[in-house]
Amino acid sequence: MPLDEFSLIQRYFTRATPGTVLGVGDDCALIAPTPCMQLAISTDTLVEGRHFFPDIDPESLGWKSLAVNLSDLAAMGAKARWFTLCLTLPQANETWLSGFARGLFALADAHGVDLVGGDTTRGPLTISIQVMGEVAPGKALRRDAGKAGDDLWLSGPTGAAALAVQQRYGKLTLAAADSQYCAQRLDRPEPRLALGQALAGLAHAAIDISDGLLADIGHLAARSKLQARLMHATLPTPPLSADLLAQPAFLAAQLGGGDDYELAFSAPVTARAQIAVLADTLGLPLMRIGTLAAGEGVVLLDANGQPQPLPQTGFNHFS
Ligand code: ADP
Ligand code: MG
Repeated sequence: MPLDEFSLIQRYFTRATPGTVLGVGDDCALIAPTPCMQLAISTDTLVEGRHFFPDIDPESLGWKSLAVNLSDLAAMGAKARWFTLCLTLPQANETWLSGFARGLFALADAHGVDLVGGDTTRGPLTISIQVMGEVAPGKALRRDAGKAGDDLWLSGPTGAAALAVQQRYGKLTLAAADSQYCAQRLDRPEPRLALGQALAGLAHAAIDISDGLLADIGHLAARSKLQARLMHATLPTPPLSADLLAQPAFLAAQLGGGDDYELAFSAPVTARAQIAVLADTLGLPLMRIGTLAAGEGVVLLDANGQPQPLPQTGFNHFS
């Protein structure tokens, strides 16, 4: 018998919600925010053919749909608490649904975040998630809070996810080990929630790298009304073959590819020692990649401190 909407919700998306007053099943969910905390709220939609390939495995899709949303909470320094899921499906395929739910809840459980409600409709495959988190007043990592003289930091290497996209479009051939690493970075991004929360109150501004390193750091700089000055030689390199790292496609992906979900943040020079400790305790290769200074835009400096030409970068749905 085909699965109806209510059995589908019951079977795949109704689970214990320990951090919630009332979860899935009523007209609304009820949540009890921690007194005196601010709510951080963000939504992201993933559309088949635009944000993911039609042949992506459903488990990776479940994981990634939540990961890209949690990454926004991480970039705000918020603790993830709740999310809602609006699912538009061409049909109720149980193999697909159980894989999707497995990936989604694996990540939800890893971060203690409750699915509290949503909506389920029929149509072209689209996943829309809203996440809610909490952050102490004055501690959120806003894009506009960078200060001149801040160091710019990056939580990990960029570029590999964009190389996986190019491979799937048939524009690039990758050796097996490179292919495996790039696919993992594209399909199973790890939102940097622990880092974001540790930086709240320590760093000034932060952003997650979803649209490309230069584009997103450019957004932070613009909102802070400053110039980002990046030292090219200090940009972290992913663990890929020397062959691949030497290709122009890698350089373009590192600077302009999307889907990395690392955090870029600005912090005062006085925070360097504390950030180094954080890198150790969280096991993240936090790298100092530049500074914020008076001016505007993003400048990429070579080893002699000379500005280099920038590739055209940054993804924009309407350009
Ligand atoms: P209503 O008609 O009141 O909008 P729905 O029939 O859409 O209610 O949903 C019934 C319940 O199931 C609600 O609590 C809603 O939040 C929840 N729900 C619907 N779809 C999903 C989903 N994809 N994931 C989680 N909860 C869902
Ligand atoms: Mg509804």
